[in-house]
Parts: sequence; structure tokens; C-alpha cells
Amino acid sequence: MVLGQAEASTRDVKEDTMATIAWIGLGNMGSRMSAHLISAGHTVVGVDPSPAALEQAVAAGVTPAATVAEAVASADAVITMLPKGEHVRHVYAGAEGVWENAQEGAVLFDSSTVDIETSTWCHAGSRERGFAFVDAPVSGGTAGAADGTLAFMLGGDPGHVARVSDLIEPMAGNIFATGGPTTGIAAKIANNMMLFIAQQACAEGSQLALQLGLDPQVFWDVVSASSGRSWAQQTWYPVPGIVERAAANQNFDATFSAELARKDIGLAVQAGADLGVALPGAQVAMAQFDRLIAEGLGHKDSSLVVKYSSPDGAVAGYTPDER
Ligand code: NAD
Repeated sequence: MVLGQAEASTRDVKEDTMATIAWIGLGNMGSRMSAHLISAGHTVVGVDPSPAALEQAVAAGVTPAATVAEAVASADAVITMLPKGEHVRHVYAGAEGVWENAQEGAVLFDSSTVDIETSTWCHAGSRERGFAFVDAPVSGGTAGAADGTLAFMLGGDPGHVARVSDLIEPMAGNIFATGGPTTGIAAKIANNMMLFIAQQACAEGSQLALQLGLDPQVFWDVVSASSGRSWAQQTWYPVPGIVERAAANQNFDATFSAELARKDIGLAVQAGADLGVALPGAQVAMAQFDRLIAEGLGHKDSSLVVKYSSPDGAVAGYTPDER
């Protein structure tokens, strides 16, 4: 079910619906997403162990908190935007965690891409303690986060999903209610598997076109109007000077790190193995991320897999970092 397309007119500040929102994890996505909540008039109290991340968020209007406990203590809503399931579990559990310190009646939602087991654990633990919880992963990359056009996939009780939908509107282009608990994360895992297979196609296609003597811009224009077109090709094309916000224009510094891409596609491959679904394309894409990580390049952008399709391993736009 499509809940609604957020439109500019609905992003006006509504004084009567302003909330205090605890934001846990202010990295590539969280920093850009939380800025829209601030623009909409909400108070965002943020926490991140990285001083650089927190400093940047504070410059954008986030009120800093030293601990998770402090951030959630007076929040109407708590959002986590963390790397992996283990980080989400760490932040929710324990004396200093979300469950022990959040206000009664607060709505909790996780926009990180995590494994189904972690999401199930979040739903169950929240339910036991009387909190509303929604799995709320997103798609659209850092560009979608910056533009406030992310697709949100919301899994949970319909009443809880409705509460979250209202809050996330300033960050969203599309909001989907995917069904009961963990269906949002299930949709996200399958979607991202398709994304990374498409990204592998871009790596291979861009290098083959180059070796065949095509001008990169001409080839990209052709594909944009042809059957090779994809979100990865439109947004993350791994050749510099073609797509403005692609990592290829910034020495493949991460907009979506190889480490996180490996995590996402690994979740899909695991689910396929558990459920008897053959995923050969995902296996190929996953192996390329493993190569980047083995080379010590897990922190670079996932689109750097393009270097494995170049005959000599060198690609335009990439100079290995000084170590
Ligand atoms: P990131 O690594 O840039 O940011 C994660 C942040 O979480 C970091 O700043 C880190 O310091 C912080 N963090 C770690 N442990 C913490 C803790 N205990 N308390 C508070 N903060 C903590 O990652 P990202 O690219 O922003 O991605 C976040 C999540 O969103 C991941 O699950 C990712 O798979 C998913 N995602 C990313 C993209 C993308 O394009 N980057 C798109 C959609 C979804």
C-alpha cells in the first residue's frame, strides 16, 4: 500500500505537531535526513560516538547529547540510523539503552538496514515493554537523504505505522506500508540485492564501453534512453564527470561504503540460502565487495568494484589513498 507522496506543501511548519526526536547515528544518511526534521520545525537531539559526525550535525541544528540515555529521555520519537544489526541491538539493550530510558508512549523506529532477526528482536522487545516499534528502512542513497526524497518501507502495527508516517514526511518522497513486523526490512533486503546486481552491471558495462572506444558521456546518454537504464546507472555511475553526486567524482569516498554494501547483499544471500532461493547474481556481486574489503578498501564507496572490470585495475577518478 502506498501511504502517500510527500509534497512540498505538506512540509510547512505545523506548530501544533512539533516533536522532540532522538536521532541515534548521524553518519552519511542520518546527518542529511535529520536536517529535514529540523527544517520542518522539530527538535532533534542527536548522539554519535564520532566527534566529526556529531560536530557536523550540530552545525546543521542538531542538539547534541552525550549518551543514548540522555538523547531519548525527553523524546516523543526515537530513530536509529546505524551501520548494522549489532549496533542497533547495542543501542536498544542495557541500562543505558533506548528501552530503559525512553519516555512512556514514545514511538521507536529503526531506519538502519539490519537482518530480519534483529528487527524481530526489536519488535518483540518493544512490545514487551509497551513501546510502539516500526521497522522503517529507506532507499534513495545520500542524494535521496539530502533531497528529502527517500522511499520509506514501514513494517508493523498499522496504528504505529501511521504515527511514524506523519513524522517522516519531511524526509520522504514515498512512504510504503509493507505489512506487519519486519516486512519493511524484508522489502529493503530484496531491493538492495537488486541494486547491487545493477551496480555490478554498471561496473562491467562502463568498462566494456570504454574498451570498445565509446565516449563515456555518449554511452551513458544512450543507456539512459535504453534498456540498460537503472537507478544505479542514473545515480552511482562509476565514471567521473557524468553523474554529479556519484562517488566517482570524489575519489570513490563512500556515499555507500563497500562494507555496508557487503552487509546488505550478505543478508539477501543468507535469506536465499535459508529459503531455497537461488541467487547467483547476488553471489557474484558479493564476491566483488569481499575483494574490496580484503584489499583494505571496505571504507571506500561500493561502486569502486568497477576497478575489477578494468583490464589493468586502474579507473578514472580513483587514486589510492595515502597510507
Ligand atoms: P555511516 O557509517 O555513514 O553512519 C553510521 C553512523 O552511526 C556513524 O556516524 C557511526 O559513528 C554511528 N554509530 C555507530 N555506533 C553508534 C552508537 N552506538 N550510537 C550512536 N551512533 C553510532 O552509515 P550510513 O551510510 O549513514 O548508513 C546507515 C544505515 O543506513 C546502514 O544500515 C545502511 O546500510 C543504511 N543505508 C545507507 C544508505 C547509503 O546510501 N549510505 C542508503 C540506505 C540505507
